[in-house]
Amino acid sequence: MKISHDFRFECIRCGNCCTDSNTIVNISSSDILRIKDGLTLTLNELIYVLAFYVFETELNEKDRKKMVISPIKTQKGFAFVGLFKKKTGECYFYDTKNKICKIYNLRPNFCRTFPFSFKRIHKSEIDIFYSNKGVEYCPGIGGDSPLINIEKHLELGNNTLKDMELNEDIINKYNTLVDENKIKPSVKNFLNFLLNNNYPTK
Ligand code: SF4
Ligand code: SF4
Repeated sequence: MKISHDFRFECIRCGNCCTDSNTIVNISSSDILRIKDGLTLTLNELIYVLAFYVFETELNEKDRKKMVISPIKTQKGFAFVGLFKKKTGECYFYDTKNKICKIYNLRPNFCRTFPFSFKRIHKSEIDIFYSNKGVEYCPGIGGDSPLINIEKHLELGNNTLKDMELNEDIINKYNTLVDENKIKPSVKNFLNFLLNNNYPTK
């Protein structure tokens, strides 16, 4: 496909994306499984490194359809799943002293793709752009940074979109089972549903 303009980016390890208190570190189902397996976490340990952001107001169907990642149903209402963040805003896995990610090889797709976002415009065609958060606080964008390898980024984007589609499917299945009273809405039940269904981790 033809990309209409160049993208320049190089991570200078400023840590903004790992420490911004207003950024949720979004995590997909395959990210959860990869981190659990890679760190050999028990269910309780897994719950400890995750954060469930419960919506304070009730969500209607229209609002939910607008969301890029659907929330799951929990005992406290709809909730987004992310990585746990400290009160100061840092991701649980950020090494502040050395300014590195402690789970670099296992990190969520959200972190792998930052500061880019992708959108599917056709079955085999995707668009790439800087994410809003990237534009807001990533100093690695533009300027003298090198041009990105567009093919590699589009491949990453394609894999990420496929992962998000699978994630959507998993969340819809779980939420439907809750609606049908086959599963009680809870964080533990969502994770057990995920762990017991042999979903892929890549
Ligand atoms: S904000 Fe940009 S430059 Fe800073 S660590 Fe994140 S990706 Fe790298
Ligand atoms: S998982 Fe790693 S890369 Fe992602 S926000 Fe946390 S520390 Fe940063």
